[in-house]
Amino acid sequence: MITVILSAALGGLLLGSFLNVVVYRLPAGMSIVSPGSACPGCGVHVRPQHNIPVLSWLMLRGRCHDCAEPISARYPLVELMTGVLLGAVAAVHMGDTTPLVLGLVLVGFLVPMALIDLDHQIIPNRLTGPAAIVAIILGTALDPSGEPERLIAGVGAAAFLLTAALIKPGGMGMGDVKLVGVMGFFLGAPVVVAMLVGMVAGTIAGAVIMARKGVAAGRKTKVPFGPFLALGGVVAILAGSPIMDAYLRTF
Ligand SMILES: [Zn+2]
Repeated sequence: MITVILSAALGGLLLGSFLNVVVYRLPAGMSIVSPGSACPGCGVHVRPQHNIPVLSWLMLRGRCHDCAEPISARYPLVELMTGVLLGAVAAVHMGDTTPLVLGLVLVGFLVPMALIDLDHQIIPNRLTGPAAIVAIILGTALDPSGEPERLIAGVGAAAFLLTAALIKPGGMGMGDVKLVGVMGFFLGAPVVVAMLVGMVAGTIAGAVIMARKGVAAGRKTKVPFGPFLALGGVVAILAGSPIMDAYLRTF
């Protein structure tokens, strides 16, 4: 059991390293496979021994080996976060193939979506499109009888957020609508938990910003909603079904 969790976490570190590349290159329209990573300061290609997730950054003390240009701490943090998340998904869903696989893959899409939204206030179709296709293919292959529920959940969630976006323009964008659709395709009914957590977290963050900057300036501050929805998605992956069950038992 420990072996499985550690393998997932290790895979997550490596995946996180790749996702850093995706987050940097995809919005810029660059290829995510070639060329290999190079230092933006001196252009020297990153050597394999300096490309080990987290460890290399620590050993290089956050600087390029060749020109000492600082390397953002975000890179090792994203690697660490992806490792922890995949380890957690493996621990929670061990032995239950469908939620395990769908959860692992969804994390792999949520991390770059949240970070690109944070950086550029956009969730690229080049992520949401493939994510939707992968969700439907995997869901149908692993659990055909559950696929209708996941399809309905995705379409329903997207329709709900689309309505909200049309009623109150400027808050949520079409990227957010597609994101919750994708989450529904992966999660099924627990996408409700993801949306609820995302909205609560986003509202709290908005209130904190207004409290700090004042209401007028706070309203003008652009806060991307994607990272909060992604956070909700993670909560739903890890605890969506028990939360839904508890809710349904209570009411
Ligand atoms: Zn350099």
